[in-house]
Amino acid sequence: MKYLILLAVIGVIWWVWKKSHEQLPPDPEVRRDPDPEKMVVCAHCGVHLPESDALPEGPQHFCNAAHRDAARAQKRG
Ligand SMILES: [Zn+2]
Repeated sequence: MKYLILLAVIGVIWWVWKKSHEQLPPDPEVRRDPDPEKMVVCAHCGVHLPESDALPEGPQHFCNAAHRDAARAQKRG
C-alpha cells in the first residue's frame, strides 16, 4: 500500500512537470497586425509613410508641411 501512494505521488509530480514543460506553438493569428495601416507616398519627395502621419492635399499626400507648401508653390507657378 505504501508503494501505491508513492507511485501516485511520483505520477502527479511527473504530470505537473510535463504540463509545465509543454510549449504551445506560436499562434500566427496573434502576431499578425489586425489592422495594417494604409501607406501613402509623399507627392514631393516620394517617401512612404502611414496615411495617419501624412498631410493630405486633395488627392495627394505629403510627409511634412514644407513639402506640401513646396508643391503648392509649384502649382501656382
Ligand atoms: Zn516629402
